[in-house]
Amino acid sequence: MDFQSRLERKGLNRREFLKAVAAATAALGLPAIYEPRIAEAVEKAAAKPPVIWLEGQDCTGCTESVLASFDPGPAEIVLDLLSVRYHETIMAASGTVAESWLEDNIKQGGYLLVVEGSIPTADDRFLTIGGRPFRQIVEEAAAKAGAIVAVGACACFGGIPAAGPTGAKGVQDVVKNKPVINLPGCPVKPTWVLGTVLQYLVFKKVPQLDGNKRPLAYFGTLLHDNCPRRGHFEQSQFLTDWNDPSQKDYCLLLKGCKGPKTYTDCAQSWWNDGVNFCINASSPCAGCTQPEFYAAGPLDHRAGFAPLYVRTDTMSLPGVGGVSPGTVGKVIAGAAVVGAGVHLIGNAATGRLKQEKQEKPGKPDKPEKGRRN
Ligand code: SF4
Ligand code: SF4
Repeated sequence: MDFQSRLERKGLNRREFLKAVAAATAALGLPAIYEPRIAEAVEKAAAKPPVIWLEGQDCTGCTESVLASFDPGPAEIVLDLLSVRYHETIMAASGTVAESWLEDNIKQGGYLLVVEGSIPTADDRFLTIGGRPFRQIVEEAAAKAGAIVAVGACACFGGIPAAGPTGAKGVQDVVKNKPVINLPGCPVKPTWVLGTVLQYLVFKKVPQLDGNKRPLAYFGTLLHDNCPRRGHFEQSQFLTDWNDPSQKDYCLLLKGCKGPKTYTDCAQSWWNDGVNFCINASSPCAGCTQPEFYAAGPLDHRAGFAPLYVRTDTMSLPGVGGVSPGTVGKVIAGAAVVGAGVHLIGNAATGRLKQEKQEKPGKPDKPEKGRRN
C-alpha cells in the first residue's frame, strides 16, 4: 500500500498530514524551514523502518501516553508509518510465537529499539520473559539495533522500581557500548517520542544530548525559568494552604515543587495537545524527567526527590549568611545550584521565605496575610 493510500485509510488528507508534520517540526525544536524535509522523510518511510518495543519493570504508562496522543497524532504517525515488529501491549501474538518472532527480528538487525521500564540487575529472576532474563533480551536486542531509545523514567534512570529491591537500572547502565537516547518522564510525553523518531528518520543520527543523554530540544531548559507561577516565586508568594482560594496561583515550592531542579519543556509545551500541565493544574512538579525522580530510601543510592509533596534537602549551598542552618536547608531544597538557587538564597537572606512553622507536618498551614499585592 503506498503512502497516500495509507493516509486515506487513516482518514487523513494531505493537508492534515502536513499540519501534523508542522506540529512535529515544532516539537523537534526545528524552524519551519525543515518541514518539507521532514514530510519527505516521513513519506519515504513508506518502507516502514522496523521498531522493537520492549517492556521491562513498567506500568505500561508510557505506552498508554503515546497511544493516547492527539489526533492526528504521534501514535498514528509512529505506529502506522513504522513497522512495530514487537510490542507486548499492542501485538496480537503471545507465548512462544511472539518470542520466536522477536528472535527472528533481532537476527535481522537495523531496527529502532525502544525500551520502556527498568531492568532488574540484583537478580535475573526478578524478570524473565519466555524463560530468558529481561537483562539478556535487552543486551541482545541492543547489540543489533540501529538506534536505542529509552522511554520513561524507569527505562532511563530506574524510576520508581529503583526504590525497591530489584536493583532496577536504566538502559544506559546495562548497554554500555552503544549510544542510548533518554526520553524520561513519568510517563514520557508523546511529542518527545515523535520528535526523536522523526529525527532518527530525517538525520539518521543521535540528536544533541545533555549530560543525562536527554535531547536538548526537550530537556534543555529549567522548568522553573518558564513556570507560569514564577512571578509569585519572585514575590515570595508561596502556597501554604490548598484550601485558601487567594493562594491558588502561588508558587508551589513549599508544597514540594521540584521545578527549580527539573529540566523539561513542560511549561512551554503543555501536555495533551496543549491542554494543561502539572503546575498549571496546581500540582507541584515531581521532577519526573530527572534522575533524582522518586529516589529515596535505604535501598536507593541516589539523593532523591521523594517524597513528592515535601521539600527535600538534597544539596547545600555555600555563602548564605544571617539565616539559621535549619531554615537554609529548607530554603535551598528544590533549588538549582545555578539560577533558581540564587533567587532562593536572596529570598532566604532577606527573610522573605516563610519559616519552619509553616512546614510542620500535621499542623494546618496558615496563609500569610496581605501577601497578594
Ligand atoms: S518552584 Fe515550582 S511552582 Fe514555584 S515558580 Fe518554580 S517551578 Fe513554578
Ligand atoms: S511538570 Fe514536572 S512532574 Fe509534571 S510532567 Fe513535567 S517534569 Fe514531570
